[in-house]
Amino acid sequence: MAKSKSKSNTSKATPSKSKATPNKAKATPNKAKATAKKSKPGSKKAKDLPAAPLEELLRVDRGFRLEDVDCESTPGFEGGKSAGQKALAEHAPELGDWQEKLYAESKGGGQRSLLLVVQGLDTSGKGGLMRHVVSQIDPEGIRATAFKAPTAEERRHDFLWRVRNALPGPGKIGVFDRSHYEDVLVVRVHDLVPRSEWSKRYAEINAFEREVIASGTRIVKVMTHISSDEQKARLRRRLERPDKHYKYNPGDIDERLHWDDYMEAYQAALTKTSTKGAPWYVVPANKKWYARYAVQQLLLNALADMAPTWPEMGWDIPAELARLDAT
Ligand code: AMP
Ligand code: MG
Repeated sequence: MAKSKSKSNTSKATPSKSKATPNKAKATPNKAKATAKKSKPGSKKAKDLPAAPLEELLRVDRGFRLEDVDCESTPGFEGGKSAGQKALAEHAPELGDWQEKLYAESKGGGQRSLLLVVQGLDTSGKGGLMRHVVSQIDPEGIRATAFKAPTAEERRHDFLWRVRNALPGPGKIGVFDRSHYEDVLVVRVHDLVPRSEWSKRYAEINAFEREVIASGTRIVKVMTHISSDEQKARLRRRLERPDKHYKYNPGDIDERLHWDDYMEAYQAALTKTSTKGAPWYVVPANKKWYARYAVQQLLLNALADMAPTWPEMGWDIPAELARLDAT
């Protein structure tokens, strides 16, 4: 399924620092697998599930430092590439099952939806998440949007305007490939608006997300985090392989020159906008198979926690059966 290159597992564990720097915490793979297994729709109520270790390992909490994250690590998963790909394939149908249930709930008048926000530098694997994780869900149930540099029309509105217009409706899973966070990332790095303007946006984003949550949307925010060396290798591959030329953009090298500024902008965005309602998860993404597995688990955990239920549709079943029999 995945085409990523195999690399040795060099994940470092520093358990003593696990609270302050969640991504370096020791992996507990068996628990993670057990949790994933239990996320089958209808199998168990969310409250019966054990705490999801992968979620805690990746979540941006107080004291988080992006520079402490080992992009090669695979928190919450001890196996290698083939085990990771196997786990991804095994759990793939569950995502679709949950979405169907969420959709069914909306048919009964439910208002809930899920929004996955994916941010990450060029080549960090955002597109791969769409192709390998999100693709497992019925396309009808997905509302996916890739945010590019704003169009002239979008620029005439507030930065959240286009985002509001792309939110998932009831029963849907929304996916943002880049998002309103670009307005405190690329915009901050390149001074596209004055500091006085972008510096207010963190609070505006938090208020906006609170509103989105209040309207019934669960938000899962993911940063796919690769190292500078890995990005260089991926850009080189895009240049060396004809089947990857189409992914290459000369502008990616210009952006790469601002690596440190991007890290600073991400650090600020992650810590200022990781809230209880809409936490950030930083997913080490040098290993594509791990990033895909981790995002799949984050989605499954969120859906299991939402625990959508089959709706009470109010049909008079015996009467409807009688009517059917009469045909
Ligand atoms: P890609 O995702 O590689 O197709 O590139 C999309 C480009 O759009 C990236 O270079 C983003 O930084 C840029 N972009 C997305 N949102 C914004 C924004 N709000 N302002 C400026 N550039 C943006
Ligand atoms: Mg790009």
